[in-house]
Parts: sequence; structure tokens; C-alpha cells
Amino acid sequence: MVGKTKVILNFNTSIADGYNSKSQIARILTEDWVIRNSYCPNCGENNLNNYMNNNPAADFFCSRCSSDYELKSSKSTLTNKVVDGAYEVMINKINSYTNPHFFFLNYSNEYTVNDFFCVPKHFFVPSIIEKRKPLTSSARRSGWIGCNLLIKNLPSSGKIYLIQNRNVLDYHTVLNKWKRTSFLEAEEIKNRRWLLELISIIDNIPKNSFSLAEVYRYEETLKLKFPKNNFIKEKIRQQLQVLRDRGFIQFNGNGSYQKK
Ligand SMILES: [Zn+2]
Repeated sequence: MVGKTKVILNFNTSIADGYNSKSQIARILTEDWVIRNSYCPNCGENNLNNYMNNNPAADFFCSRCSSDYELKSSKSTLTNKVVDGAYEVMINKINSYTNPHFFFLNYSNEYTVNDFFCVPKHFFVPSIIEKRKPLTSSARRSGWIGCNLLIKNLPSSGKIYLIQNRNVLDYHTVLNKWKRTSFLEAEEIKNRRWLLELISIIDNIPKNSFSLAEVYRYEETLKLKFPKNNFIKEKIRQQLQVLRDRGFIQFNGNGSYQKK
């Protein structure tokens, strides 16, 4: 994928010979595929390594930049939500800035990759983690509370495709898309939510330039999300300034903005 490595969309199914459990087979095949075909979208190197089994931190690490990655794979399309582990654990990781980046892999019945994208860790805020119902008293882990990752709530800037509809995306395009929002990593969690809302609004505007009036159209939607804030328009302008200072957009004057 780094120009020199050719991506093979098919899983190497021979390595799962002898295994019977479907979930175990899926895990072996998908992890093996990532190790052989993916690079680290943070630093761009082909240096992803497996953690030993059942490491609670993540599935892979990059031996160059030390990024941690967790892999979620499914035969169903990954557009709505994905089941993850314990709710409290995930929220604590986010609030302590220790959550990993996530890879999402969608594959076919024939064990070939359809979509493969990464969501950088700094796109995770508590509002995209959905608390599930506690397990019932008949379950082995009665009372345990899991969570869903609400992929549908992520801005498209936070879904960094390496493969989309079986097409391998250009390596430099991927790294540039990652860099464009990497400033979020230095933002405190409490500030990230507003920034992510604005990034989402800007992502949804299907042109490169836009006006302040177009962003103000989301005032009511934002009011519902931040009911305690009585100065939504002021907050919008302030957040646009932050996004300009971080290089995400530029101001062209007279209430006109441009995506960068
Ligand atoms: Zn790396």
C-alpha cells in the first residue's frame, strides 16, 4: 500500500484451517489481512504488529509511531453502529485520552475486502458511545453493560478510507486526510464535541466554499444538542475561528469561508 506493496483484497483463508469457531476464524483472517496489507495511517509506515492475544489495550501497534489500533470487522455494512466492549471502560479510556484508533473492515461472504477505514482516536467523544442495556439476569455476566460505537454520528472527515468499494485509495490522499484533523488530538475532550459538530456541518456542505449563513442554518439542530447554550451563533463563529486557526478552513472575508 505504500506504493511498493500491492494490496491483496482476498483473505488468506488457508491460515484458518483446523479452526471451527466462526468468530475465531473471522478474527484470525481479518487480523492477518490487516498486518499484511495495511500501513499505519498516522505515520504512513508498514509497521503494524499484533499485540499478544487478548491484550486489553488494542489489537495492533505501530512500531514506528506507537499508535494503537483496534479492529472491528463485519460482513454487514459498517454505516450505522458497531458493538464494542464494556461501556464504562470505553468512556474511561476516552476521558483519559488512552483510547486506540479504530480500523473498521467490511468483507464479503467470499472473504474479500469491500471497505476498510480508520477512525482516529481523537474523533471519539462520549456522545458517539451508546450505552447498551445491561445483560439480563439469565446471562453469565448478568448486569454487565456493553456499548455501541455510533459510526453514523461521525463526521466524514473522521472516516478515513484506505479501501472504499473495493478501490484502494491513494496513499498520500489518505495521509493528508488524516493530517487535516490531527489538530483535534491536542484539544481537550470538552472542547472536541463542538468542534466535531462544526466539522460535521462543514463536511455536509457539498461545495468547497460556504457562507456563515449556511452554517447558521444548523442553529436549531445545535440548540437541541446543546440546550444549555443560549448563544449558539456566537459559539458557531468562535468555533469557525478555531477551525481557521487550526488550518481546517480559511476565511475569505465578508462571511465567506473555504475548505482547505
Ligand atoms: Zn505509525
